[in-house]
Amino acid sequence: MVVLDVHKIEQKYQAVNGEITALKEINFSVEKGEFISIVGPSGCGKSTLLSIIAGLLKQTSGEIFVNGEKIEGISAHIGYMLQKDNLLEWRTIYRNVIFGLEIQNNLTPENLQRVIQLLKTYELYDFKDKYPSQLSGGMRQRVALIRTLAINPDILLLDEAFSALDYQTRLTVTNDVYRILKQEQVTTLMVTHDIPEGISMGDKVVILSSRPAIVKEIIPIDFEIENRTPLNCRKSPKFSKYFDHIWKELASDE
Ligand code: ADP
Repeated sequence: MVVLDVHKIEQKYQAVNGEITALKEINFSVEKGEFISIVGPSGCGKSTLLSIIAGLLKQTSGEIFVNGEKIEGISAHIGYMLQKDNLLEWRTIYRNVIFGLEIQNNLTPENLQRVIQLLKTYELYDFKDKYPSQLSGGMRQRVALIRTLAINPDILLLDEAFSALDYQTRLTVTNDVYRILKQEQVTTLMVTHDIPEGISMGDKVVILSSRPAIVKEIIPIDFEIENRTPLNCRKSPKFSKYFDHIWKELASDE
């Protein structure tokens, strides 16, 4: 079932020295539960695309459909996670995690029960009364993810969500996040400049061209590994084949 359909998205910006076309004609769709990684040269329009899907930016033309319905503006169907975890330092972990539900005026007993369940399943329940400053970077990122999942979004957008973490933490966090997203069957779109990260997490990698960005190629990723995790993908002989292919595609664009 198609959850997200990006249809002929074009984005132009007015800059001082004229008009810039960031996105030219972007088309792709995402199936329920799929994890899509988007890579492309720096400045090609990856963040622009996510902002449009999140409803934070109005596209010049084209349409976004979620579950077959055209969406305009900010939608409760979409969760968005950025590089900074944006946790509120003066709130406890529990009160951070329910923050999205609070804003949506949706603190129902069922939703609160789900939050407790998420905290328990993903080893954060014992920290629920602590403050963000008392947690490690990796745990904070997990809290930010659970806060986003608490609103039960149909699609999760990740914009370079792990790039503020040091390399070691980043590997662990991507493994944890991947496990959570697959277990909860969350449909995810992740923008990253890190090709290995894109390959190790993605069911598909969408390669965007340099500006004005078009979809250059969509590569299905299949490691044929049972119990796939980002870490065990990195050890597969297929990993470097995918890497070389994507690297060449991106290099041919510079
Ligand atoms: P990426 O995330 O791939 O690095 P961005 O989506 O941030 O790329 O930006 C795409 C292009 O659009 C860049 O050339 C950038 O300079 C330009 N751009 C982004 N936002 C604006 C804006 N508000 N006004 C004018 N140009 C912009």
